[in-house]
Amino acid sequence: MADAHRLDCENEAADCRFIIQSENEAEAIELAKNHMRDDHGQEYTDDELREEHLQAV
Ligand SMILES: [Zn+2]
Repeated sequence: MADAHRLDCENEAADCRFIIQSENEAEAIELAKNHMRDDHGQEYTDDELREEHLQAV
């Protein structure tokens, strides 16, 4: 059973309920990057997202 990669944006922005969950890490990072850029105007690198924002669940 693969771990899922999860980003709960409420941890980053208290007023955002966006949650990403995917078993595909690359996909989770891509979705997180797009969301952060489009909805929050913030650019994160793949490494920042992987190391600091995504949780394994
Ligand atoms: Zn958000």
